[in-house]
Amino acid sequence: MSGKMVAILESGGTKMVAALSRGPGEIIAHKKIPTTTPEETIHRLVEFFEREQSAHGKAEALAIGTFGPADLEVGSATYGFITSTPKIGWSQTDLLGPLRKAIADVPVVFETDVNAALFGEVSWGAAKGFRHAAYFTVGTGIGGSLIVDDSLVHGSGHPEMGHMRVTKHLDDDFSGVCSFHGDCLEGLACGPAIEKRWGRKAEELPADHPAWELQAYYLAQACVNVLTIAPVEKIILGGGVMHQEQLLAMVRQKVSQLVNGYLRLPNTEDLIVLPALGDHAGLLGCVALGQEKTSMEL
Ligand code: ADP
Ligand code: ZN
Repeated sequence: MSGKMVAILESGGTKMVAALSRGPGEIIAHKKIPTTTPEETIHRLVEFFEREQSAHGKAEALAIGTFGPADLEVGSATYGFITSTPKIGWSQTDLLGPLRKAIADVPVVFETDVNAALFGEVSWGAAKGFRHAAYFTVGTGIGGSLIVDDSLVHGSGHPEMGHMRVTKHLDDDFSGVCSFHGDCLEGLACGPAIEKRWGRKAEELPADHPAWELQAYYLAQACVNVLTIAPVEKIILGGGVMHQEQLLAMVRQKVSQLVNGYLRLPNTEDLIVLPALGDHAGLLGCVALGQEKTSMEL
């Protein structure tokens, strides 16, 4: 059965993906737009939504999953803005406002890209049917998202699990790449950290390189930290770095070691998994968020 049609936007630092959709397999219109200046990019998005709505009918909700940092706090003066990003020209940009005008009078959802991806996985993917779940995307940075009791955990900004503290390995003398913290999780384990530590791009390091033991050591700590604060039943690990096929099993094994029997957990093969929706997690998450919002406002 078709769900309500939602205008969705996955907003990334290099490209925007906009679509109208009713759910998995029901992308009605779809367009990729490079992220250039805010003026040009937003103008093209507005044009897309106006044109496609005249062809396919009016969307019943608007949902955006965006790169950040962004203001997600409903009621804040800058709600829907990209805030202090280093991305040139985008600092203090109102992303939601112009799109909301183009798709007038519908409920809106403004979320981080990782929150949208986790919501997609909980709705239709690897964490379907679970009420508590977490997601880490390990790529250019490390983003995190947490759902407890079916709800995304929000602070006044977005959750910043990617910057949690981790214990450095005794053999690791790398000082980290995070411009705020140096050796936080992102600083030690994002793709650029791997590249800087070993002098080669992460995708060029062979599967038996010591980089991956160390990477698993840090990602396992991130998983264990989440497990000790929230009753998550699925931890999804995505992003470019997780394309290393050997890494998932190494993380699972280190999680078991670190937990050391203390927490009652499902076996780590069920607990720690790759995303099931692949590249579509963010877009589908936006559809699910938009549909949930319309049903709440009935
Ligand atoms: P982004 O985080 O920019 O959205 P990605 O999730 O693709 O994009 O992450 C990009 C990072 O992932 C880069 O640092 C790159 O070196 C790393 N990466 C991409 N493919 C692989 C791979 N097969 N193995 C290890 N690292 C990879
Ligand atoms: Zn940091």
